[in-house]
Amino acid sequence: MDCIFCRIAAGEIPAQIVYQNEDVVAFRDVNPQSPVHVLVIPREHVQGPLALGDGHAALAGKLIAAAAEVARQEGIAESGYRLVMNEGRQAQQSVFHVHLHVLGGRPMHWPPG
Ligand code: AMP
Repeated sequence: MDCIFCRIAAGEIPAQIVYQNEDVVAFRDVNPQSPVHVLVIPREHVQGPLALGDGHAALAGKLIAAAAEVARQEGIAESGYRLVMNEGRQAQQSVFHVHLHVLGGRPMHWPPG
């Protein structure tokens, strides 16, 4: 298995896991961009958001629901948070296992960089 996020989901390499269930795993980003920066991934390997088809509709919903649970746990549900999912080169996707960034704990700017 050469996917780093598959290996985190399998417990083969360490990560600071903050939430998990049978479908998803959430862990702290190693290079946080805000006081709270958690990545939510499916246990199933999917390359990125572009590869999420109709067959993944339930799974995509579970990523967002898990992000809400993480936000409650991390104390940013009230103040607000941002969800980001990068696809491809111009969006600077760097890990090709779909992941939802949960960012919070500071004011966010718009438009994003
Ligand atoms: P993206 O640029 O959207 O593909 O985001 C990939 C994210 O994964 C980046 O924010 C990285 O800091 C993060 N990352 C890469 N390797 C690890 C790791 N082993 N544990 C936690 N986060 C990681």
